[in-house]
Amino acid sequence: MNERDPIESLADIRHEFGEHGGVNMSVEASTTFTVMEPGTIPEIFAGLKSPDEGGCYLYGRHFNPTVYNLGRQLAALEGTEAAYCTSSGMGAIAAAILYCCNSGDHIVSSNTIYGGTYALLHDFLPAKANIHTSLVDINDPAAVTRAMTPNTKAVFAESLSNPTLRVSDIPALARIAHDQNARLIIDNTFTPLLMAPVEFGADIVVHSMTKFISGASDIIAGAVCADQATIQSLMDLQMGPIMLLGPTMDPTVAFHLSMRIPHLPLRMTEHSRRARVIAEMLQAEDLNVVYPGLAQHPDHELAQSLFRDAYGYGGVLTLDVGDEERANHLMDILQNRYRFGYMAVSLGYFDTLMSCSASSTSSELDPEDLTSAGISPSLIRISIGYTGSLEQRLAQLQNALKDVGLI
Ligand code: PLP
Repeated sequence: MNERDPIESLADIRHEFGEHGGVNMSVEASTTFTVMEPGTIPEIFAGLKSPDEGGCYLYGRHFNPTVYNLGRQLAALEGTEAAYCTSSGMGAIAAAILYCCNSGDHIVSSNTIYGGTYALLHDFLPAKANIHTSLVDINDPAAVTRAMTPNTKAVFAESLSNPTLRVSDIPALARIAHDQNARLIIDNTFTPLLMAPVEFGADIVVHSMTKFISGASDIIAGAVCADQATIQSLMDLQMGPIMLLGPTMDPTVAFHLSMRIPHLPLRMTEHSRRARVIAEMLQAEDLNVVYPGLAQHPDHELAQSLFRDAYGYGGVLTLDVGDEERANHLMDILQNRYRFGYMAVSLGYFDTLMSCSASSTSSELDPEDLTSAGISPSLIRISIGYTGSLEQRLAQLQNALKDVGLI
């Protein structure tokens, strides 16, 4: 566990120079790696040599030096011993779950999670792997405790739930999970840098790097951050879910993402600053806005205790305008009349993205789960970007709200 500000940990990582002295590392674009002596290959296969033991690499679906370097940056970001990267956030989540659970095991998960993760837990894993999940209100510790069984091997939640932005009480969830020898997996996609779940007891942190960490909506990528033994197990030749199912990251992708980590703090700070100002404006207009940085947010105090002071409360807010048609009209005007942002799923882009979650990225949820989570058809999730001036964006939003009669 590392409670330092991650920007200091990141600055301490050994800097990898390029092959010819370039300030940036080279891309190790090789799928296979040579050795100087024939005996070394059997030693790598036997686990006696590895990237950390003798600097030995085997094959691109196993560890790759460029991907490993990005993994070091992710580990520094999350304060974990190690990390490795995957070809998507879903690849990271699936690998972390399959590392924790065997056929017949059980998971307790938040019922308010990204729709793809919901489908994985609710539909795919029971059918394909006999791994069953109880979906509960993660903000109700008694319900989480009641759902635990002797077979529960993992508790799963998002740091900030997608799209409802409830804050997971990670210390309480860690206590409940550890009492039953289960691991706590936290998806920190919405809050990279803003909070470090392992500081509060999480065992495994997963990311969709597709979002804020990439920042440009051009790359699909993920990461698993955990202790060294867990990361090694993910790559085990016999039983490793990343090694055997194959969602490894391409080294060129790792290089591109690695170049963006140094400015992640600046980007997150600006996403948060703008989201907060916009949320305050919407609140002042008496609109139904949810943002964890607002004092009126149901988990604001919890957020204050978990979030670092320096980077704010994130770039995502929701606005429920009470009527689906009006929500669509508002998004249409915001994009096509005022150029405030774009109607698109995903988040963490430099421009603003807007979507109605119930009919898009949460449409996999059962109707009861949508209702109990408060994901109404008129709820718009807005990922606030940082292009243009804030004053310009506020004016665009206010004009659009006036046009649809909301203010
Ligand atoms: N986790 C969260 C919270 C997400 O919002 C998403 C995608 O929207 C994912 C995981 C999946 O990530 P990816 O699309 O990189 O597989």
